[in-house]
This record gives sequence, C-alpha cells and structure tokens, in this order.
Amino acid sequence: MLRLARRLLLALAAGTAITSPWAAMPAQAQQSFPNRTLTVIVPFAAGGPTDTVSRLVAEAMGRDLGQTMVVENVGGAGGTLGAQRVANARPDGHTVLLHHIGMATTPTLYRRLAYDPVNGFEPIGLVTEVPMTLVARNNFPATTLAEAVAIIRRDRDKLNYANAGIGAASHLCGLLLMSAVDAPMTTVPFRGTGPAMQELLAGRIDLMCDQTTNTTEQILGHQLKVFAVTTAARIGALPNVPTSAEGGLPAFEVSVWHGLYAPRGTSAEIVNRLSQSLQVALRDPRLVARFRELGTEPVATERATPAAHRAFWTADIAKWRPIIQAAGQYAD
Ligand code: ASP
Repeated sequence: MLRLARRLLLALAAGTAITSPWAAMPAQAQQSFPNRTLTVIVPFAAGGPTDTVSRLVAEAMGRDLGQTMVVENVGGAGGTLGAQRVANARPDGHTVLLHHIGMATTPTLYRRLAYDPVNGFEPIGLVTEVPMTLVARNNFPATTLAEAVAIIRRDRDKLNYANAGIGAASHLCGLLLMSAVDAPMTTVPFRGTGPAMQELLAGRIDLMCDQTTNTTEQILGHQLKVFAVTTAARIGALPNVPTSAEGGLPAFEVSVWHGLYAPRGTSAEIVNRLSQSLQVALRDPRLVARFRELGTEPVATERATPAAHRAFWTADIAKWRPIIQAAGQYAD
C-alpha cells in the first residue's frame, strides 16, 4: 500500500493487558479432542467475504476433525466484538476465531479494548490472502477507473462509500483510495460488507472496496460496476478486470490476509491438531475450487502453521503501527 495513504490511516497505542477469565484454570486435559461441536467466530456479518471463507474452512475442517464446525457471526466495531468473544472463550480448542488483516491493525487502532488484541490469542495458521475490488452501484456513471476517479474528485461531497467499520479491510482500502485520489467521501459503516453489498446492489450506496470473495459473483453477473482489482496482476476469476496500476493508480494495491486463532492458553497439542486440520482443509479439492471461483487461493501448507502465522502477524502489527500512529486517527 501507498506509504502516503497509510499515513492517513488508523488506530492504537497499546492494549491494556487483560487477564483471561480462564487463566487460572488447570491445563485442560485434551483426551479426545474435539469431543463436541466446534464454533468458528466470524467477526463480521453473515454473507460477507470473511463469512464465506470461514464457512468453507469450517466445513472442510469439520470433516477432518469428525465434528461439526459451526460458524457464528459476531459483527460490529470493526471486528473487535467477535475477537473479544474468542479472547474470553474457554481455551479448549472448541471456539476459534477466523479474522483478517484487522488483527494487525486493531492493536494500534483501538486504544481501549476489553481484551488483549495480541496476547489474547494463539495463532493456528494463515488461511488465504484475498484480492480486493473497487465496485460501484450498477448505474454509477463510469466504466473505467480513470472515469470513476474523475467523478469521485468532482462529486466527493455527494458520494457515499460503504465499509465494515474502522479497521475492516473495506475501511483500509477506502482510505487508501481516498488518499490516492485525494478526495474524502462520506463513509457508511455496516456490521460487515455482506449487508453493505445489499445496499450497493439496491443502488443506495455508491462505492465500496471489498474482497473478491464477496464481489466476484456480482461482477460476473453484471449486478454492479467494477473498476479495478487491487493486485499487481489480474486474477483468474476476473480476467477482464484491469489492475489498479493498469487503471492509472499503481499505489492502490492491497490484499487481505486471514488467519485462524484460538484463545490464549489453548494447549500446544490442541493448537497443533487444529493447524493440521486447517492444512487438510486448505488442500480439500472442493474448498480449493470454490476459493478459485471467488478469486482467491489457500496459502501454502507451510504458512498454515502456528509459527508461520505468528511471525507474519507480528511483522504486520509492526508494519502498521507507525503508519497508524503517524496518521493519528484512532478508533476511539
Ligand atoms: N471482512 C469483512 C466482512 O466479512 C469486510 C471487511 O473487512 O471490510 O464483512
């Protein structure tokens, strides 16, 4: 992402260390894990991109683990409500979080949280890195990125832009866009881009930047306008959609990494079992095919491990911290 754009961004100084209510519990014996239904908390509304990824992962992991893995949507506050739920959950591996790049920005963006956004979790493995697309209502009067940029600059006071709250990928991508074209727009926050998409399709929202896992089918169905895919190269699912660079905005480049987390205190054995299952899920032909249709792909197996996830997450927190601090824009 653009260095300049990043400066415009977000949020936090250092979460207060919160002690887990389960911290004093003796280590959980983990004979026969899992021994009941597992729950994946998705910190955004149903029908959105993180929900879509999570349902595919949950279904495939459930097959491997021999237990149903259900998805529960706990949206709101840019993903922090769902993350809080998992940070405070019993650390027995039956409740996990599937969250995205927001896990790297929240620790700086939000200065007051009722959970520890870093130490409250055990990373299990990375899942996928999803390209984004800049889309608009179907009657938006532009067909190319250059035309859209001209309209955004001209009508900046009249246009609205949907996002899924501060720290959501759609928020970060929107800030990047507004910085790249030097035109702030009114933003309308939703509990996820699933509900935001409904408003865009209805023509009540003008623009949104969202992950291909939530936009590909609508783009292919000609239900909305698309101006760019925010990756360095075009993607297989949307071969006719130009990249931001082709459209004249090379700095408008971003993809959204996702990872799976257990609450702090979950035993290494259980975290490793979940990681193995995630690796199996990410090789599942049904999941791979569906990811591909939606414009994304699973990470390589070696990245779906606790160590690789922790290293990547830690580096991304460090990458975002100075940007957010320089921008001085905090969620609170
Ligand atoms: N991932 C969010 C969702 O699933 C959207 C976002 O981060 O912008 O709704």
